[in-house]
Amino acid sequence: MSYLSQEQTMQIGQLLRERRRTLRNEIREGLLKSGEAHHNDMAGMVSDAGDESVANMLEDVEIAEVERDLRELREVEGALARIDRSDFGGCADCGESIGYSRLKASPAAIRCHACQERRERSYAHEGTPTL
Ligand SMILES: [Zn+2]
Repeated sequence: MSYLSQEQTMQIGQLLRERRRTLRNEIREGLLKSGEAHHNDMAGMVSDAGDESVANMLEDVEIAEVERDLRELREVEGALARIDRSDFGGCADCGESIGYSRLKASPAAIRCHACQERRERSYAHEGTPTL
């Protein structure tokens, strides 16, 4: 059973493949940059404590970005795999259709808008329930 038309699924698949390409490039660049920061640090030509901590900080930022990109890449891969299995477009929580417009905005979404909001509310650390 399919939630989207074949054409809609193909369009989302296209978006996902583009996103995958972008993420792979970002991950590669992030790894290269963090490698360079490390390398400069190792070279130690002008190294004092200040330079070193800046280099370490940059490296931490790069690694955090790479980790975020890797996480998103896994989601994108998962969505592409669901398209391959013709199991794409359903909400992981309620099974309803996620909806074409939502998938166009977030092609790797695994929940419909209502379930995503409910989930974010239940994990929110601040704000008081209005009920
Ligand atoms: Zn749902």
